[in-house]
Amino acid sequence: MTTETLFTKIINREIPADIVYEDEQALAFRDIHPQAPFHVLIIPKKPIATINDISADDAPLVGHLYLVAKQLAAEHGFAESGYRVVMNCNQDGGQSVYHIHLHMLAGVTMGWPPF
Ligand code: 5GP
Repeated sequence: MTTETLFTKIINREIPADIVYEDEQALAFRDIHPQAPFHVLIIPKKPIATINDISADDAPLVGHLYLVAKQLAAEHGFAESGYRVVMNCNQDGGQSVYHIHLHMLAGVTMGWPPF
């Protein structure tokens, strides 16, 4: 399932975002409603609606999103203190934008479970 959401508009610079990382495959920008002192969304430029729509061919791309998280953690000083990376899926998972994205949250001690 292919979809175009506001994240496509952010990729295409049609709406503004505070971009912290970009390469050929991925973009990362600060969440507009941050839930932690550092809250970044890491997205593939390829629009994939949900985790359910990820194909085997997308595996390197999805893995790449985690490598971006790792790099951002190192650059922003969270590698040792720790951080959380999460991808929500569909209604019960709390997904509101149907273009897959890793939430990267850091700068605070997290709780568990997350509900
Ligand atoms: P989800 O609920 O799909 O897991 O996460 C979507 C995230 O996108 C939310 O945390 C929400 O705050 C963020 N978001 C929604 N609209 C915008 C926007 O226009 N700009 C930015 N930077 N983040 C947005």
